[in-house]
Amino acid sequence: MTEILVSGAGVAGPALARLLTRQGHHVTVVEQAVSLREAGYKVDVRGAATTVLHRLGVYEQARAADTGMRQITYVNRTGKPFAALPADLIMGRRGDDLEIMRGDLSRILHDAAGADFAFGDSIAELHDGPDGVDVTFASGRTGRFGLVVAADGLHSATRRRVLGDVPLRHLGGYLSIFTTANTLGIDREEVMYAEPGRLTFVYAMDPAGPARVGMIFADPRAGHDRRDGKRLVADAFAGGGWRTAQFLDAMREADDFYFDSLSQVEMPRWSSGRVVLLGDAAHCPAPSSGQGTSLALVGAWVLAEELGRAGHVEAFAAYERRMRPYVAKNMEFGRRMVKDMVPGGRLAIGFRNYGMRTLKFHPRKEQVIERVLAPLREAANAITV
Ligand SMILES: Cc1cc2nc3c(=O)[nH]c(=O)nc-3n(C[C@H](O)[C@H](O)[C@H](O)COP(=O)(O)OP(=O)(O)OC[C@H]3O[C@@H](n4cnc5c(N)ncnc54)[C@H](O)[C@@H]3O)c2cc1C
Repeated sequence: MTEILVSGAGVAGPALARLLTRQGHHVTVVEQAVSLREAGYKVDVRGAATTVLHRLGVYEQARAADTGMRQITYVNRTGKPFAALPADLIMGRRGDDLEIMRGDLSRILHDAAGADFAFGDSIAELHDGPDGVDVTFASGRTGRFGLVVAADGLHSATRRRVLGDVPLRHLGGYLSIFTTANTLGIDREEVMYAEPGRLTFVYAMDPAGPARVGMIFADPRAGHDRRDGKRLVADAFAGGGWRTAQFLDAMREADDFYFDSLSQVEMPRWSSGRVVLLGDAAHCPAPSSGQGTSLALVGAWVLAEELGRAGHVEAFAAYERRMRPYVAKNMEFGRRMVKDMVPGGRLAIGFRNYGMRTLKFHPRKEQVIERVLAPLREAANAITV
């Protein structure tokens, strides 16, 4: 039995904790937030990652929480719909693939983890010595761990501590998500509205329940302070059409506001001594890939499997060797799709809207979409677990 510390209770951290406790290790998950962060939009679990959910024993629970999305509707400046497409078709989901609210998945994995969770705390200092990693927490607590796993997301402080500062690859936009009242009365439907350089999307699972709003804007400047998120969104969307003003008011009131850049993490290595990176901390592919959650789940599986076979030196090397090609394919897809997520100028939007409007009349629309999404399906299955 090894004492293992995992930093971050998002998706990757609790998934790994579940697998390691099953191997008989004692796992502590330290999470900076005071409780599980259940914010965020809906996320996809595709391909190899669905196998991991089965192996974690939570697939049925996740399936039961599937968003059941029916349709994506595109509206113009006055809110008039000009195209509607079946959700499964356009999102490229097949077989066991599912879509779930990020917070629901995080909660399911947390409840299954069998680990000790320490909320409202974080690693303040870390010394990797011959007998283990000595950790001092922000709370003042101390501990010695056989292994430390950095699953603390895109801006991982643990990564910076052990592997130094590596600039993120900025993909030219920022994403915000928050909850508001479902004033559109939508039911398992997503409504999208694009203007040059900005995109608003709204989703609800139940006409009587809340809605989640996403607002994305283009900005080539990297490194905006995330604490300024609400102001940045308000500035970027000022004067927008459709219900922009109403959503900005709701955003100001929202207490689950999530804001981050559309960025990728490209690390030359994923471990140093007894410390290893997992999930977004190692290889965030950006939300435009739609694969961040799947990579996190698959990474947890591969890391746990390799740790079950060998000591940490060999296991970390094998984990990285197996994951790299799969990660590279998904990162590439994330870069390619960013132009679909961050709208360009008037011409690009006009072209895209024309495509959406006419797609339903296309005699081979399934094949057209299939062709666009083939690289995603290939990337989602580019590893054997
Ligand atoms: C609140 C939230 C909402 C999100 N919403 C979306 C979304 O709508 N769409 C999308 O594509 N992706 C979203 N993401 C990112 C998505 O969850 C990840 O890409 C993916 O699931 C990989 O998961 P992860 O566990 O590696 O990272 P994450 O899910 O980001 O989890 C990292 C966890 O580490 C914690 N943490 C951060 N720093 C520290 C620290 N120093 N010490 C301890 N804990 C720390 C964070 O609070 C978080 O709980 C969101 C992430 C968060 C945290």
